[in-house]
Amino acid sequence: MSDCIFCKIVEGELPSKKVYEDDEILAFHDIQPAAPIHVLIIPKKHIASLDDAGPEDWAVIGHIQRVAKQVASESGVSESGYRVVTNVGANAGQIVHHLHYHLMGGARLSPLGLHN
Ligand code: 5GP
Ligand code: ZN
Repeated sequence: MSDCIFCKIVEGELPSKKVYEDDEILAFHDIQPAAPIHVLIIPKKHIASLDDAGPEDWAVIGHIQRVAKQVASESGVSESGYRVVTNVGANAGQIVHHLHYHLMGGARLSPLGLHN
């Protein structure tokens, strides 16, 4: 996907502050952190959202959960708690249409729910 900013980050065409990388996954700091710890974890493969994931993608999505736990531990938020969330589509406020999981922690997070 030539116009996808997260594909460009994967390809190294755009910079990012990486915290984890392997053959299938990249994790990097969110450019506009909404919490003291705010990391984005993405598959290197372009998948537009969870809703676009197919059976061939479940393995990498499971892998993302494992990496989220690891990055949380390395970020020092395992004990204090953290949130792992993916936005899908307009009502969830998805802006970047390349599947990504937000890992947020380091402070008390606001409850999930309706926009106020
Ligand atoms: P969404 O609303 O799509 O779930 O979240 C997209 C997230 O990507 C936002 O938190 C936003 O700050 C982050 N973001 C957008 N562009 C960039 C970028 O170029 N680099 C990084 N590191 N994060 C980005
Ligand atoms: Zn992409």
